[in-house]
Amino acid sequence: MAGTIGKHALVLGGSVAGLLTARVLADHYASVAIVERDHLPAGAEQRRGVPHGQHVHAMLPRGLQIIEELLPGFTAQVIAAGGSTGDMLADVRWYLNGRALRRATAGVKALSASRPLLEGTIRERVRALPNVTFLEGYDVTGLHASPGRERITGAEVANRDGSDARVVSAGLVVDATGRGSRTPRWLAELGYEAPAADTVAIDLAYSTCVVAAPGDLLGGDLVVVTPRFPGQLRSSVMQRLEGDRVLITLAGVLGERPPLLAGDLRAYARSLSMPDTYDVLRAAEPLGPPVPFRFPAYVRHRYDQLRRFPAGLLVAGDATCGFNPVYGQGMSVAAMNAAALGDELAHGGEPDPYRYFQAVSRILEAPWRLAVGADLALPGVTGPALSESPLTPDYLRRLQLAATEDDEVAVALVRVTSLVDPPASLLRPEIVERVDRVPAGATP
Ligand SMILES: Cc1cc2nc3c(=O)[nH]c(=O)nc-3n(C[C@H](O)[C@H](O)[C@H](O)COP(=O)(O)OP(=O)(O)OC[C@H]3O[C@@H](n4cnc5c(N)ncnc54)[C@H](O)[C@@H]3O)c2cc1C
Repeated sequence: MAGTIGKHALVLGGSVAGLLTARVLADHYASVAIVERDHLPAGAEQRRGVPHGQHVHAMLPRGLQIIEELLPGFTAQVIAAGGSTGDMLADVRWYLNGRALRRATAGVKALSASRPLLEGTIRERVRALPNVTFLEGYDVTGLHASPGRERITGAEVANRDGSDARVVSAGLVVDATGRGSRTPRWLAELGYEAPAADTVAIDLAYSTCVVAAPGDLLGGDLVVVTPRFPGQLRSSVMQRLEGDRVLITLAGVLGERPPLLAGDLRAYARSLSMPDTYDVLRAAEPLGPPVPFRFPAYVRHRYDQLRRFPAGLLVAGDATCGFNPVYGQGMSVAAMNAAALGDELAHGGEPDPYRYFQAVSRILEAPWRLAVGADLALPGVTGPALSESPLTPDYLRRLQLAATEDDEVAVALVRVTSLVDPPASLLRPEIVERVDRVPAGATP
């Protein structure tokens, strides 16, 4: 099918969203080029353009399912390199509101490995596609438009030292440059309206270290999640990594800052609602100093609301919508976005940006509601109000409580947070009946 829609497509940014976008485009365009400002490593190495790659990065089941469809054998490849997979509930230790979720089988699998290994494996597979090329070490500096500006015809790029500035022409340009995307600004410069931005100010801080774990520090589990809850601004996630290591991310919101000195990590971990993180940090020394990350806010750019948009341009991944990383949704949403692009291209002609952005908006709806709903429940977090939903805060609180005692509720909840089942599945009569056993207004 390559070449049925157009000759050249250009992807801006070569991280998870850009790579998956290129994989989908390669089925429909004769050639696909990815422009990336970094020189990309051959294997699973941390790189400058993805500083978040040093922090917890678990792959939720929905993302894994789609990547496996796009790149069959991906999971096996990551496992062969030391990654681990397991059931999202039976093999993940979840604490909600300071209580353990029931350990039943959710029937959906997550993947735990370092972000460089996940991205490096996707990159290796995409690099192997015969019609995909990489332009590495080049910054995208602008969009190139037709004289009437009704169409984007390529991108302006330059070597990182500013030399070799040139235009790369393409019939379709997809911006996947992440949260720092300059498409809103470039659109305004071309005389278009920039998309409105829905911003959630969460003031999140991470501090991450990796420990050697030759024994089984996580008791056979893939991931251990100790989230914040009302009255507790601190949280942690531990994940099994390749190379017999465990990655520990300590987090805080709204001014709560996890420590930046290795010696202070244990004290912070000790203050969490559950002792698991402290126990691991007591049993193993960090392999290096903790790495910080600050995340003041996340933004959804409302491209779906624009009434005028140039032909030949789309936006994907975090460049459209970033997420609070604690919910682990970003890579899965990038994969869902790539699948939506595949559906758009399956119509046969040049992609229609309006239809595409509507489709992306639909896939963003559930993860956005889950993340924003949970964050706005925290006094001090500001963001756009959500439309009314039968999943009221009281119902969700009682559902979480029920999930600590009832396998079926725990499975339903985890399948929704895995982005496999829609939030409406939490309103199935058999779930409502079980949740209703928890008294209205109950708190943990
Ligand atoms: C701290 C943190 C933890 C996270 N944890 C998880 C998790 O557990 N699970 C999960 O699924 N997701 C997680 N995410 C989200 C996930 O990292 C992203 O959603 C995912 O990487 C998709 O991002 P992207 O490809 O759109 O952008 P990015 O990963 O930000 O990549 C953008 C790429 O574009 C390149 N680039 C940028 N500007 C230019 C330019 N002008 N010219 C050329 N190249 C450019 C960059 O070098 C980079 O390669 C986390 C995010 C953060 C910040």
